[in-house]
Amino acid sequence: MAEISLSFDNGPNPEATPRVLDSLARRGILATFFLVCRNLDDPAALAAAEAAHAAGHWIGNHTMTHDVPLGIDPDPEAPQREIAVAQAKLGALAHPEKLFRPFAKGELGPRLLSQAAVDHLCRGGYTCVLWTHVPGDFDDHDGWPDRAMAQIAAAEAAGRSHQLIVLHDAVPPAMRHLDAFLDRLADADHSFRQDHPPDCVPIRRGDIVGNLEGLVAG
Ligand SMILES: [Zn+2]
Repeated sequence: MAEISLSFDNGPNPEATPRVLDSLARRGILATFFLVCRNLDDPAALAAAEAAHAAGHWIGNHTMTHDVPLGIDPDPEAPQREIAVAQAKLGALAHPEKLFRPFAKGELGPRLLSQAAVDHLCRGGYTCVLWTHVPGDFDDHDGWPDRAMAQIAAAEAAGRSHQLIVLHDAVPPAMRHLDAFLDRLADADHSFRQDHPPDCVPIRRGDIVGNLEGLVAG
């Protein structure tokens, strides 16, 4: 049976995030929410993020705009704009280890980070959190739970006991299936934990502790 860590990216969303929080609370599950920080300009979204933090979920930085992956953003100010300004906007919501998750449509590849972004994360004492599975709830609102279960089973068969899944509370139609998905995980005797598998964390508190090969633009 696997140990599952859940993460919810691209929110907060005033419609879906409160429902996600209810689903997690009913089961006593704690997760990590990686926020697109410009969403916090919406008071209802900000309230949802504050509720997540108050409930014990960890809050991380998922850039300011989520527009252009850092590895292909030609703007030399991108790390400052997308990481530092976003972190300031998180303020007291932010996890003390300054959790940051880059994005590139779920691909672990060289579009994720630039060398300037890596340097920025190290100088700023950030912790970079990647993932093991992206079941694609943003593309397939109804089919993602089946894909997630298959990914978990395949990884478990390959010997991976602790898995970190990326879902999106920014996608309300996909989150309609969250309750049933959590029930399926429990029925399969998987358990939940909040911390992240060490091999999904290549940078911790500013130190490069893992392998960034293939994840930084050349
Ligand atoms: Zn994202």
